[in-house]
Amino acid sequence: MLDEFVHEPRVAYFSMEIALRSEIPTYSGGLGILAGDTLRSAADIGLPMVAVSLVARAGYFRQTLDAEGRQIEQPAPWDPARWARLLNAKVAVSIEGRMVWVGAWLYIVEGQAGARQPVVLLDTDLHDNAPADREITNLLYGGDEIYRLKQEVVLGIGGVRMLHALGFRVRQYHLNEGHSALLTLELMRRYAYAPHEIRPGESLYDIPRVRELCNFTTHTPVEAGHDQFSYEIVQRVLRDVVNAEASRQGPGAMNPDAPPRGADERQIDLVTLKRLGGEDRLNMTRLALNLSEYINGVAVRHAEVSRRLFPEYPVHAITNGVHPFTWTCESFCAFYDKYVPAWRHEPEQLVRVDCCVPDEAILEAHDLAKQALIRKIQVLTGVNLRADVPLLGFARRMTAYKRPDLLFHDVERLAAMAQRYPFQILLAGKAHPRDAAGKRLIEELHAHARALAGRITTVYAADYDMALAQAMVAGVDVWLNTPLPPLEASGTSGMKAAFNGVPSLSVLDGWWVEGCIEGITGWAIEANRDDTASAAGALYDKLERVVLPLFSEAEKRPARLRVMKGAISKNASYFNSHRMMRRYATEAYLR
Ligand SMILES: *Cc1c(COP(=O)(O)O)cnc(C)c1O
Repeated sequence: MLDEFVHEPRVAYFSMEIALRSEIPTYSGGLGILAGDTLRSAADIGLPMVAVSLVARAGYFRQTLDAEGRQIEQPAPWDPARWARLLNAKVAVSIEGRMVWVGAWLYIVEGQAGARQPVVLLDTDLHDNAPADREITNLLYGGDEIYRLKQEVVLGIGGVRMLHALGFRVRQYHLNEGHSALLTLELMRRYAYAPHEIRPGESLYDIPRVRELCNFTTHTPVEAGHDQFSYEIVQRVLRDVVNAEASRQGPGAMNPDAPPRGADERQIDLVTLKRLGGEDRLNMTRLALNLSEYINGVAVRHAEVSRRLFPEYPVHAITNGVHPFTWTCESFCAFYDKYVPAWRHEPEQLVRVDCCVPDEAILEAHDLAKQALIRKIQVLTGVNLRADVPLLGFARRMTAYKRPDLLFHDVERLAAMAQRYPFQILLAGKAHPRDAAGKRLIEELHAHARALAGRITTVYAADYDMALAQAMVAGVDVWLNTPLPPLEASGTSGMKAAFNGVPSLSVLDGWWVEGCIEGITGWAIEANRDDTASAAGALYDKLERVVLPLFSEAEKRPARLRVMKGAISKNASYFNSHRMMRRYATEAYLR
């Protein structure tokens, strides 16, 4: 089953979540979408990779909303057998001193030209395991701290062992965020020196060799957002991996009384672990930073912020991108196939859309996408949006820093604006089940929608997922993004919109710092302070003076077309995951 994949060395890409398709709910947001787009582009450009993630049988969750906008969460179980094949392999990891068996499913990502990339989904739901251990790979971002650490043991340590057992030859490891950082411990054990090779006072482990193999992409621009565990929990869960005894001999020293161990049983001493992962708590970001030769942030601005957070490390920037075919609606695919036929492999060619395509064809492709979205929203919510009234879209994970409520800061001003320039609003997004503030925001958005009833049609569509995202980024007229800087590391939904000729109206943060050319690719919300009132004022000013008039006055049609073409030719041509993966290949994997 794996013959076609194991004949050549591959880059092993580790991610806690991955968005393989809308029917497979093993993702919660942008991080998982990025992982999926990474593999889809690797398949299109022929870059040999293998992804490793958890099977997350219970799925993230299915969102329903009551009339007040209270979120109701239901499990979103999926059947791996429907989409993936069970592999005939089993590896063991030690958790709390028990052997936990890990199995694997193989999902195959198919590229546009028929190339294929394997995804290995780890699964502890095996008869050999105790009931509680069978649950370890069940939830995505669920359970307590200890549950999370167990998942990270399965992902990092189990993942490396599984690739080895399956016969994969790994050329480089890529850690998509810190959740998989424990894989570095497994590599340290694998590349520990044999007793006779160790010189007195020197490390047991070949750390330069581990670093040479690892690449780390950080996604979190605040220290508090990084995964951390107390050493008490670490020593409990990783009892057989971390050795507190040896540490008395000093860092990296051999314990002369310890019985000789095979490579798989070799332990990491606590002093070395603390030196690499943080003295007070095991910080997965620190661990990954210390054991990766190549480190990057996901946008130029984010790399700058990360360098301030971690001044001791060389943080490079590879700005995210989105997968061209996945995020382009049917009508724009047909349009590009006709006018820019090479775009699926070389989205750079979309630069030509600036001047070499008929205006009518762009507007027609957009109208079709908008009609498709309106039909979908009618089915999902019963609300009829109008095709002839501009539609603003906002959808992403509902969480405080993304400020979904900024648009509604002054509802009366918004309503007054709509008298002059009518428009409609479409919202969507899930809040993490334990994010109380995120859930409250959804309720507040519902209250605003009620307050605006009869003045601005405002719709909240439930259960945001890949399919709804695909319809929304293509069918709205303007894509809104209002995070609190510098907290949006990159953001990718605006890039998806660009592939569909939809311009962004966004705060200058994340990718938009690079993507915004005012009036050409979209518009900036220029707030010189990050206080809410001034940001909302800047948003209203831009909407009222620049954005909405484009849709109401016929003589503004050329300006509107210019910004649709600019979004495609200047942003889609660059902010795509083919470019992103070609950069990872040349700057990280082949360094
Ligand atoms: C693209 C996408 C995201 C990420 O959106 P951002 O605006 O980058 O936060 C989240 N969820 C889904 C379903 C997506 O398709």
